[in-house]
Amino acid sequence: MSTMVQEKGTISVNTENIFPIIKKFLYSDNEIFLRELVSNAVDATQKVKRLASLGHYSKELGNLNIKVSVDPAAKTITISDSGIGMTAEEIKKYINQVAFSGATEFMEKFKEAKDANEIIGRFGLGFYSAFMVADKVEIQTLSYQEGAEPVRWVCDGSTSFEITEGDRTTRGTDVILYINSESEEFLQESRLQSILDKYAKFLPVPIQFGTRNESEPDGEDEEGKPKYKTVEIDNIINTTVPIWTKPPSELKDEDYLNFYRELYPFSEEPLFWIHLNVDYPFTLTGVLYFPKIKNELELHKNKIRLYSRQVFITDEVKDIVPEFLLLLHGVIDSPDIPLNVSRSYLQADSNVKKITSYISRKVADRLGELFIKDRKGYEEKWSDIGLFVKYGALSDEKFYERAKEFLLLTNTNKEHFTLTEYESKVKEQQTGKDGRLVYLYTSDPERHDSYVRAANKKGYDVLLMNSPIDSHFIHHLESKLEKTSLKRVDADVLDKLIEKEDAARHTLTEDEANKLKSIFDKAINNPTMHVQVESLPAETMPVTITMEEWMRRMKDMSKLGGGMNFYGSMPDTYKVSINANHKLISKILGADEAQQTSLAKHLFDLGLLSQGLLKGADLTAFVERSVEVI
Ligand code: ADP
Repeated sequence: MSTMVQEKGTISVNTENIFPIIKKFLYSDNEIFLRELVSNAVDATQKVKRLASLGHYSKELGNLNIKVSVDPAAKTITISDSGIGMTAEEIKKYINQVAFSGATEFMEKFKEAKDANEIIGRFGLGFYSAFMVADKVEIQTLSYQEGAEPVRWVCDGSTSFEITEGDRTTRGTDVILYINSESEEFLQESRLQSILDKYAKFLPVPIQFGTRNESEPDGEDEEGKPKYKTVEIDNIINTTVPIWTKPPSELKDEDYLNFYRELYPFSEEPLFWIHLNVDYPFTLTGVLYFPKIKNELELHKNKIRLYSRQVFITDEVKDIVPEFLLLLHGVIDSPDIPLNVSRSYLQADSNVKKITSYISRKVADRLGELFIKDRKGYEEKWSDIGLFVKYGALSDEKFYERAKEFLLLTNTNKEHFTLTEYESKVKEQQTGKDGRLVYLYTSDPERHDSYVRAANKKGYDVLLMNSPIDSHFIHHLESKLEKTSLKRVDADVLDKLIEKEDAARHTLTEDEANKLKSIFDKAINNPTMHVQVESLPAETMPVTITMEEWMRRMKDMSKLGGGMNFYGSMPDTYKVSINANHKLISKILGADEAQQTSLAKHLFDLGLLSQGLLKGADLTAFVERSVEVI
């Protein structure tokens, strides 16, 4: 009787050839068939559990594990659950009537769809994703309902199906996929294992997985029926209660660290983490980790995994997680994120916006808390955290408002200050006669050593701004801080960087000053070097070479691709400050002409040397000349 066809029919999609289209179009993403079918099995299992707990089902629930098995000889994959099952009526209702509003609409929309998720979700194609990898799909099911009959449904990927009496003797559903010739990769246990690891690792129902070989009987059972060699598939491959579903109060640091190791086996320990847990106005759980960054090249985005009710969806979360937090690692789980819609829709979705700002706020709260509770520990981590915080401050105004409290500035002595602390530290010394406060910084403390020392000697502090984000961050700070400018220590001679009232005139006559300028112009003989005679403290270097702050910034920006290529193509020009008050200067003025040129050249080279600008043949000549002089 079981082979007698009870009903034949046509799946109600208004085109004959929808499956070839689905198959072809979704080919690149075809592994998600397993996610879809296993998720259906999980749903069916949870439904029967719920019915039992509500008293609508009073029989034994039995073992509710889901089994995924592969039979390479028969070329089948079977997903088997002990869930609610389906009656013939339900199959007709839920499986046969594919939720298309019309084939025309599908044809219209699939053209712009970006990936399989989009199509599957939008058109209710979950189950039918099986046809991406199978020529034929069979369902064997027995509903939990009193008096239900087992049902078998078969469809070969055309729009016709067949319903007959089924074989199942226990409640639940088997979905058997007869894998097509292009998809035989899925018959490899290792391939299936990796798909399950990706999508099913944290599903809430235990999943067993293994290979069995049902096409080769291995003896007979008591009734004389062939017994199949069934490799026991009792290994459960998932964690049904992952930590993000547990209340934080039940978790220890070790639990978070273990979970991190499980997610990213080859990474260094994270610095700290944030447990996300909100159920109003949207539901979201998760754990985000701050990774330790060894070097800038290691910044990996797409490390956060998005789940929906413990089903892995994607690791492309850039529309959900604020840009600056894409560097974090971890898991986000939310059934409220629309998973199957286009990018532009996602960006406009109000839930997604709320989620994004929630995550940003939680991260700020956690950082603030760490800073207050353990400032020392926070400072130690600053070299890793700083990048996130600065990035966040730059890209998210609300985050900056919160981050002001725990955003640290670091000086060349490796001391850390909050913005307010730093202001009060340098206010007295570093306010110029125009009332503007000047923060001095270096992007390369080795190279700027002589400038940094000179600044420190004068009682000025110098900030360390040597991370790649700092050139942007400097701009940001200037726009936020009142009456404050940031200047790199080598942007001018110190007395010009911070101009005080008491700047005295030098003692040279105008003639002498002009003479001096022409001596240096001649000795240097380079149009990109602009010589100026200045009155600097006697102990300042006789020649200082600087590049103006604004000029250097424009160049830096154009290097970073900031669009200002006009400056990028300009030659580097420098200011050569001659310290009129230095005693060597009077020596030059008193010397004969040949000596004047060589002394000026030598002092100029010394200036270049302290800037790290003396290179190649010039450097060699300088060394030779120095030996001669000595
Ligand atoms: P969705 O899961 O999004 O509703 P599907 O095409 O995957 O779409 O499934 C359609 C319906 O078929 C499900 O809603 C469910 O009612 C039924 N179904 C699918 N798989 C099973 C199963 N393993 N057990 C019971 N019912 C199932």
